[in-house]
Amino acid sequence: MLARRLRPAVAARWPSQQLLARCYSAQPKGTPDIDASALTIEKTTAPKPLLDAKDLIFGRTFTDHMLSVEWTAQDGWLPPRITPYQNLSLDPATCVLHYAFTCFEGMKAYKDADDRIRLFRPDRNMHRLNRSSARIALPTFNHDTFIDLISKFVNLEERFIPKQKGYSLYLRPTMIGTQKTLGVGPPGSALLYLIASPVGPYYPTGFKAVTLEATEYAVRAWPGGVGDRKLGANYAPCIVPQIDAAKRGFQQNLWLFGEEGYVTEVGTMNMFVAWVNEEGVKELITAPLDGTILEGVTRESVLALARERLVPEGWQVSEKKFTMAQMKKAADEGRLLEAFGAGTAAVVSPIKGVSWRNQDIKIPLSPGKETGPLAEKFWNWISEIQYGETSHPWSYVVPK
Ligand SMILES: *Cc1c(COP(=O)(O)O)cnc(C)c1O
Repeated sequence: MLARRLRPAVAARWPSQQLLARCYSAQPKGTPDIDASALTIEKTTAPKPLLDAKDLIFGRTFTDHMLSVEWTAQDGWLPPRITPYQNLSLDPATCVLHYAFTCFEGMKAYKDADDRIRLFRPDRNMHRLNRSSARIALPTFNHDTFIDLISKFVNLEERFIPKQKGYSLYLRPTMIGTQKTLGVGPPGSALLYLIASPVGPYYPTGFKAVTLEATEYAVRAWPGGVGDRKLGANYAPCIVPQIDAAKRGFQQNLWLFGEEGYVTEVGTMNMFVAWVNEEGVKELITAPLDGTILEGVTRESVLALARERLVPEGWQVSEKKFTMAQMKKAADEGRLLEAFGAGTAAVVSPIKGVSWRNQDIKIPLSPGKETGPLAEKFWNWISEIQYGETSHPWSYVVPK
């Protein structure tokens, strides 16, 4: 226990986030990691009726079961359990309820044409969950073991994964601190759990381009902060600015940072812009991972596909800071080609306009469409990998 208390103090002298993550591990050496072979399964006696595919609403209904793994500082990870989906029972003093010891992931399970279940780059989600967890003094775990458990879980819940293309089972791995004391310190116990919600296509009637309000009065993330981690604490403060933007008729916030007006993210998606840059070169640009940007799996995939498939066509692909003023200038000079958000829920979200300091910046779309050509390309490329229509190492076929 003493060593666990001392380590954060040591880490605090090193402001770099990477060092923080490396120095502090809630997992004391020698306690057991998760043991997938110890899994017990208690099946529900009251299976839920399946909703009609057209009635599915994101995150509203859940499958029959949940997966839970408890952790204590003393004993490490306890045997994993699949049980009927049920309420948690938490003491009102539990640390997650007071100090936001909570982080999560968002990923999906897909059915391919041969009825196999597939995950998309699950190792990236596990990596990110461990990084989020370590940042708030919660325990870490072996990636492959948890992917094994997810595989067992999605096999059990197979009937909830709709077969139609565009449908999927949204998976929500969540970690919370469960210590029942009000003292502010590293939780001595935690719960890692997984719930799942069947979801329909994000664009049931074709793409829908959105308009954004560039938000300067509120800041989502800042250097040295935790905007690069999927911590629960990052999301609640973004709702009021979102409501305000919606009142003014904008679907999402475009989060800016600093006096320079750096473009960071859009809503809870990474932001991509395509323009002809000042040097006259076609460029696909997104903000760099400087600690203020969430490391999106979709972002990483868009960048990799762009480097593989667009660079040979003369595109430049950049992870580089860019500003609202540069976007406005590009629009004024007819160099702004396209903009879109990227994230698991929608894959891509085409953007048709941004309001910034009372100026409306219009962003081009393909003729007669609610998307630009690049967003559509990435949507096709990534969806066909997710649904196994093309063979690709990013698609993980869940063993039966
Ligand atoms: C989850 C998330 C993203 C997108 O990440 P994906 O792994 O692509 O789903 C982007 N920005 C924020 C703030 C997020 O929470």
